[in-house]
Amino acid sequence: MTAIDAIKGTRDILPEEVGYWQWIESVAREILNRAAYQEIRTPIFEQTDLFARGIGEATDVVGKEMYTFIDKGDRSVTLRPEGTAGVVRAYIENGLHVKGSLQRLWYVGPMFRYENVQAGRQRQFHQLGCEVLGSADPRADVEVIALAIDILTTLGLKDLRLDLNSVGTPDDRQQYREALVNYLTPYKEDLDPDSKIRLTRNPMRILDSKNPETRKIVQDAPKIWDHLAPESRKRFEQVQQQLTDLGIGFTLNPCLVRGLDYYTHTAFEIVAETGLGAQNAVGGGGRYDGLVTELGGPETPAVGWAMGLERLLLLLQQLASAPAIDLDFYVVSRGGKAEPQALQLAQKLRKQGFAVDLDLTASAFGKQFKRADRSGAAACLILGDDEAVNGTVQLKWLGSGEQESMPQANLLEKAAVLRDRIQNLNSKR
Ligand code: AMP
Repeated sequence: MTAIDAIKGTRDILPEEVGYWQWIESVAREILNRAAYQEIRTPIFEQTDLFARGIGEATDVVGKEMYTFIDKGDRSVTLRPEGTAGVVRAYIENGLHVKGSLQRLWYVGPMFRYENVQAGRQRQFHQLGCEVLGSADPRADVEVIALAIDILTTLGLKDLRLDLNSVGTPDDRQQYREALVNYLTPYKEDLDPDSKIRLTRNPMRILDSKNPETRKIVQDAPKIWDHLAPESRKRFEQVQQQLTDLGIGFTLNPCLVRGLDYYTHTAFEIVAETGLGAQNAVGGGGRYDGLVTELGGPETPAVGWAMGLERLLLLLQQLASAPAIDLDFYVVSRGGKAEPQALQLAQKLRKQGFAVDLDLTASAFGKQFKRADRSGAAACLILGDDEAVNGTVQLKWLGSGEQESMPQANLLEKAAVLRDRIQNLNSKR
């Protein structure tokens, strides 16, 4: 029979890679928990309307890329293409706004978009994100950015650039849009086809077009900064000042826009300047003061970001090998009496907190010893039928070759001494 392949645009995360994933997640979890963010887990599929309203029909994500289907109950459901809409729905539905004036939340999980597959762009990918709901304070914007940078630098990533912009309030944008359309209209015929359509529907999105011709035209376009109301400008300056005070460098980028009405003020993106090729955005986010009301909740200012874990992984793989668990013991055994005892001993040691690999092959000792050497364990435990009858075990330190025989009970009693010695050996590796 022919084998069945994984769906295009999805990938298995194999054991040799999973160490990176656990590492990324544990660094993020620790940094976010320390900043009083709590994890939230929302469903992987939601009513299609949530995304249509929460992300916007005019976006590529909703317009072209959603995995939408009708379920057996005749409901239109969609695999989540991003995390914020689900978090906001959960926030409203579970009355989290009533439980506390401010919610700091984070999430991690798979997202689904029907995209053109290429390096760093998949159809099932993973995002880690955080959201602060209930604060309009510019410090919230700066805090989330600072935490994203902390996560990335703790992972050892370098050559990152933080692009920053303000998209103001809907009123600011209304004014700006007019100026932008006035500027672009004479160039209409030179714009790429998507941008032509956007000129009437969503002109600000033309600013982030990837088309080289359009980009040239956009270079001299009016900048939103000149159309921000004094309050919005002040806010933008505060965010910049506070980032500077924290020692976080940034590049102002007037073309960084989020095309929807409920996006407000801060918009940012973190880009890897080397190592990712064309798909170089590691993460992005911003303020979305209008989204909670758009989804039927109370007026709630909010800010957040999401980063793509596959892209972090691509960068980490270029920097370091996957962290692996250090194995403490490799247990070899042979003989009808010894083999079951070896299992019992392995289980006892595991319960004491040791990492133990039990050789299950029952092959010749020589072959088992070879595997012990390759396993990376600090020590090998050897049980033959002689040992089993006497209740003893041979302990062999794999680095030095030093070997001693001892009662199995002693091995367990001496756990603390053994642990010290193993830690000492591991620290010298
Ligand atoms: P977005 O929700 O589009 O702002 O994406 C946030 C981050 O998720 C991006 O900066 C990427 O790192 C990552 N990302 C978005 N789409 C994909 C995809 N199709 N495959 C892999 N990573 C993605």
